[in-house]
Amino acid sequence: MTKISINTLKNENIIDITDKVNEEIAKNKMTEGEIFLYLPHTTCALVVTEKTDSAYKYDFLKASKEMVKNYAFKHVGGNGEAHFKAAVFGTSRNLIVSNGKLLLGEWQGIFLVEFDGPRNREIMIKFRA
Ligand code: ZN
Repeated sequence: MTKISINTLKNENIIDITDKVNEEIAKNKMTEGEIFLYLPHTTCALVVTEKTDSAYKYDFLKASKEMVKNYAFKHVGGNGEAHFKAAVFGTSRNLIVSNGKLLLGEWQGIFLVEFDGPRNREIMIKFRA
């Protein structure tokens, strides 16, 4: 197992980690197999989504806020909205490695989505040959 550390820099942010994950695959010398990515956090998520349009990052964060705009979270920590979104979008992904890198569609990337930053986040990575 290995891990990537990311400083998310903003309260809400969507960060393309595709290149960083591919660097870890190269360091591990994996050419074919599976990669399991996991966040040991309750207020950020991992998503595979559109990578080419920077306006879409705004859309994603805005749409996720709209999803819960009519609900007043009672969680005493004050970050119930972030916990909820992390649970909805998910904190893990299982992806295919082929030819030494992530097997993704032309328009896909993998992103860490921060809902309660800025914070230092860790992405745990397990390789399965
Ligand atoms: Zn909390």
